[in-house]
Amino acid sequence: MKNISVIGAGTMGNGIAHVFALKNYSVSLIDVSADALAKAIATIERNSERMVTKGTITEEEKQQTLQNIKTYTDISEGVANADLIIEAATENIDLKLKIFQQMDAAAPADCILATNTSSISITKMAAVTKRPDKVIGMHFMNPVPVMKLVEVIRGYATSDAVCQKIMDLSRMLGKTPTEVNDYPGFVANRILMPMINEAIITLYEGVAGVEEIDTVMKLGMAHPMGPLQLADFIGLDVCLSILNVLYTGFGNQKYAPCPLLVNMVTAGYKGVKSGEGFYKYEAGVKDSKVSSMFSKK
Ligand code: NAD
Repeated sequence: MKNISVIGAGTMGNGIAHVFALKNYSVSLIDVSADALAKAIATIERNSERMVTKGTITEEEKQQTLQNIKTYTDISEGVANADLIIEAATENIDLKLKIFQQMDAAAPADCILATNTSSISITKMAAVTKRPDKVIGMHFMNPVPVMKLVEVIRGYATSDAVCQKIMDLSRMLGKTPTEVNDYPGFVANRILMPMINEAIITLYEGVAGVEEIDTVMKLGMAHPMGPLQLADFIGLDVCLSILNVLYTGFGNQKYAPCPLLVNMVTAGYKGVKSGEGFYKYEAGVKDSKVSSMFSKK
């Protein structure tokens, strides 16, 4: 594999493009929004610069990484030569099904179609293509350049050969792939999201404030980040979409999203990406202030 296309240049897409470009793959980064593409390249540049400062890579490697990435607003153009496409667009099933049809129509016949979805059925996406054996979940964690895990999800029809290729490729990127089966939320989000939702319910019911809940989980459970801050980093809209997939997929009340989360997303409080969620953020960095909605009067 040499040519990798990444569809969606948001929180995850820019990280996925970064790790492949760093390993000298030729990367096509695709988004419907030219603004999202510009922001993604700026983020990759900033993160690469930090790696140079830390001595992890040289200035030349940084330049090479940036040169390895081309941007496109048209899917057909961006996937024309792809050996592997990783779809990392908004967590919405109708959108993903449409993108899978577009990828299937425009990509070379032997190209593998992967998705970074957090929770949506790989089997459903495979079913709208003519190559279900070549469709697979490749679920990177946020932030992609730092986190070691890739959750590799086999759809109902994913072939052994394709699964093996994706496991090997993940190892080549310096990651640790873990193979799981295709059920709502897979493993990572089936366990993580109920914890985040419970933290939001705890806040909603007034049991404790934002910082108190995060402090208990950070210091008490040795989590590097509290669940409310983690939700801000993931994106509150993404958390809500995943909880809805779990709720409808299992038909179990225990996954029902907290009404506070629903309200925050409706009002545009999406966490880091919108500048405010449970905390406030300046250029993607937590300024340690709790959102004015939750700060103590
Ligand atoms: P995001 O909202 O930050 O970015 C999504 C991007 O997709 C946006 O830039 C948007 O313009 C683009 N997009 C929308 N429709 C498109 C289309 N038709 N063609 C091309 N681009 C399109 O979302 P994100 O957090 O990066 O999540 C992307 C995927 O990764 C989702 O499936 C999500 O569940 C998954 N994921 C997210 C995280 C996380 O921590 N945020 C972690 C693992 C996996």
